[in-house]
Amino acid sequence: MGKTEFEVINKYFSFPANGNDVELSVGDDCAVVSLSGIHHQKLLITTDTLVSGVHFPVETSPRDIAYKSLMVNLSDLAAMGATPKWVTLSITLPEIDEAWLSAFSEEFNSVLAEHKVSLIGGDTTRGALSITIQAMGSCENRVMRRNQARPGNLIYVTGKLGDAAIGLTAILKHIDDKKLQPCIDRLNRPVTRVQFARALSEYSSCAIDISDGLLADLQHVLTASKVGAVIRLPEIPLSDAAHFYFKHYLNDQLDWPLILAGGDDFELCFTISDTHQEAVHSLAESHDVALSCIGRITQDEELVILDESGQSLQFEHTGYQHF
Ligand code: ADP
Ligand code: MG
Repeated sequence: MGKTEFEVINKYFSFPANGNDVELSVGDDCAVVSLSGIHHQKLLITTDTLVSGVHFPVETSPRDIAYKSLMVNLSDLAAMGATPKWVTLSITLPEIDEAWLSAFSEEFNSVLAEHKVSLIGGDTTRGALSITIQAMGSCENRVMRRNQARPGNLIYVTGKLGDAAIGLTAILKHIDDKKLQPCIDRLNRPVTRVQFARALSEYSSCAIDISDGLLADLQHVLTASKVGAVIRLPEIPLSDAAHFYFKHYLNDQLDWPLILAGGDDFELCFTISDTHQEAVHSLAESHDVALSCIGRITQDEELVILDESGQSLQFEHTGYQHF
């Protein structure tokens, strides 16, 4: 006989808490958490929905879906310097597929344990596959905000950009090439900079996670801060796999719109003043995070993109938009 909704919740979504701050978890009308350990801190709350066919290709494995849906939420907390603590999971499933559920549940639990985050509640409904996670975290230091970039600040990004967009292209174009696997991995398994970001907030007051593409997300910072920026394309960090893709599949042409507006990087973009440059570099080193300085914040409310020869470029589409 098929399982009821409550059997599904019990079997697949009732995990032990990963901290002693959960007083009541899955099973009642609400979850209850204790704020005693963080009573002088700030509570940060975010939510993100992932819809099959929109946020991940329909053939994505349940493990990758579990991983990514959690990571995109932890990435939002990281971008503001918070430590993730609790999540809720609202999941819509087309059917009760136990093999799918058990793979999803196992991966979800293992990512939660790794980041010491507790699943404390949610909702389970029937319909087209969609996953909504609400993530809550605490912040004892300064919260990094989009509206804090100042003229003269240096603009940095972590890691490499464009890999996830190349991975998605490889999947959609059915390019079967082992050398592009790192890009597909970055699409399905984004690496979020939670620990680094938390420490970064000592030096930076402005950060954003790159989810829609660098240009779109940097533009959010510029608009919120009422400033502009000059960025230099030769400074944009690309992976070996990305170079391989452009060399072998695009006649050695870099596809800048793909790199800068493809999205799903989940790297951090942040600003600092020159005085903190050295400290931030050694911080990144100690967290094993690659850093690239890609430009500077300016007074003019305009985003200027310079190519190798110093010419300014225009892009038609700056990022992924749902509507
Ligand atoms: P209610 O009808 O009161 O909203 P539900 O029947 O939706 O309660 O859920 C029962 C309990 O199971 C609640 O504690 C809820 O938070 C939890 N829950 C439901 N779905 C999930 C899920 N996918 N993951 C985690 N907890 C869930
Ligand atoms: Mg409910």
